[in-house]
Amino acid sequence: MAIARFPPYLITSDHRERCLEQLRSKSAPLEKYIYLNGLKERDSNLFYDLLLQNMKEIIPLLYTPTVGEACVNYSHIWRRPEGLYVSIEDKGHIRDILSMWPNTIDSRIAVVTDGSRILGLGDLGANGLPISIGKLDLYIAGAGIKPSSTVPICLDLGTNTQRYLDDPLYIGIRRKRPDPEEMDEFMDEFIEAMKDVFPSLMVQFEDFSTDNAFKYLDRYRYKYRVFNDDIQGTGSVILSGFINAANLSSAASGKPLADHRILFFGAGSAGIGVAKQLLSFFTMHGLTPEEAKARIWTVDSKGLITADRKGLQEHKKFFARTDYDGPALKDLVDIINYVKPTALLGLSTLKNAFSEAVVKAMAAINERPIIFPLSNPVNLSELEYHDAIEWTNGKVIFASGSPYFPVTYKDVTYEPGQGNNMYIFPGLGLGAILSRARHVSDAMVEQASIALASSLTDEEKAAELVYPRLNRIRDISAQVASAVIRQAQKEDLDANNYLRTLPDDVLLSLIHDKMWRPHEPTPHL
Ligand code: NAD
Repeated sequence: MAIARFPPYLITSDHRERCLEQLRSKSAPLEKYIYLNGLKERDSNLFYDLLLQNMKEIIPLLYTPTVGEACVNYSHIWRRPEGLYVSIEDKGHIRDILSMWPNTIDSRIAVVTDGSRILGLGDLGANGLPISIGKLDLYIAGAGIKPSSTVPICLDLGTNTQRYLDDPLYIGIRRKRPDPEEMDEFMDEFIEAMKDVFPSLMVQFEDFSTDNAFKYLDRYRYKYRVFNDDIQGTGSVILSGFINAANLSSAASGKPLADHRILFFGAGSAGIGVAKQLLSFFTMHGLTPEEAKARIWTVDSKGLITADRKGLQEHKKFFARTDYDGPALKDLVDIINYVKPTALLGLSTLKNAFSEAVVKAMAAINERPIIFPLSNPVNLSELEYHDAIEWTNGKVIFASGSPYFPVTYKDVTYEPGQGNNMYIFPGLGLGAILSRARHVSDAMVEQASIALASSLTDEEKAAELVYPRLNRIRDISAQVASAVIRQAQKEDLDANNYLRTLPDDVLLSLIHDKMWRPHEPTPHL
């Protein structure tokens, strides 16, 4: 048999360029995803090198939006085992299943999904694993977590999606999802076994159905080192953008920061979750929790949410207004004229809900209105960036959930912000594992927001950005991690005493040194 040899002049060319060309030659995003997946298996250093050099191009292929397509089709594009499946049929011996994972002692971060609410695509069952893999790639790229210390996990608890149960190639177990009691028993055994088998691990829950996301975060957050990016990461990243936006807006209006008034359009799990996180903006500026709550108004499909509305859902009660007793306010312009908000945040999934009249109503009462249309993806966004700029004559302070291109209007180029969770979770995770924090406290999440808000460079401030540029992600993550470590120390949650002895600048450079880089000897986290 002939022995394959490398071509003699291979080393004179840059193989990364060749891989990029091969990647770009594929037209369908899913094909690109499959190509990248193969490259990761063949040469993971090269894969991460390419990712770090071309984040803007590759992240949307490894994470949203392409990962959604990869999940939907996962049973059909499956090539090789690439994560850990724990099934409801493993109940009673989950510890044994987890122990099969290599490298348990050195593992640092697990992303765990049960596939029940993947990116708004619904219940994808065992097809959810790519979401855990993709998120961990962002931890690796964003904070230099060592690839071999990451653990992608999919909990295979069945699925209520009939077309998967009927699909002969479906890779999951064929049963419906368990009732809450059975699921609780499974989750309790799972999380306790995780702690035993992976002593140095942080668990990040990802894309659980809304009720379960809140439930299991509350159930485990003070007992284990767990974090939920959908809830805590989103709140933290929006708080950070709001801090910078409020500074710009108050500088223009001369009004105190504590006087901001926020109107939430959309009161689902994301809207209410973000609103609760934004309470801390006001408490930071000296307001009591009650006074902070009074600065927030919420709107759902029936209009301004008031406490006297019949049959109000439980999660909407917290912000329901008790100080309005007029006729129900339904029209958004009327609501704006009544509330007089300085900021309008959209988490409604309602495309173009922020009409010209709405935006102009905000501009009429604010020198620099803050408008954040946060619904994803772009086809659900409440407002296009170029409309926001035109309708406010460039005065808007804007951040969206989905990325928009800069806009040039009357010879001035404006850059939008994007409230991307990737600004927060890699640094937060790195801070939690380096400090060996026992759990992730609210104050650690809040400090991550403040650190992100403070990470703007002079050039970014001059450009009036509310978020830093994503190509500096490792610097940003280091600053976030440092703030998280200091807060863990303040609350006595840390177990790495050595970090306490370090001055801030030394701590920051140690965090940089701990970051894994392709082709370099691996640091020990
Ligand atoms: P959801 O379906 O639970 O909630 C939607 C809310 O919008 C509900 O309160 C509903 O009553 C309200 N709504 C719908 N139609 C309306 C109308 N016509 N008028 C007024 N209100 C209306 O969704 P969710 O999970 O809360 O997510 C909302 C959006 O937030 C999604 O698009 C999601 O992608 C986005 N999101 C963005 C980020 C981010 O930017 N980082 C993070 C998380 C979620």
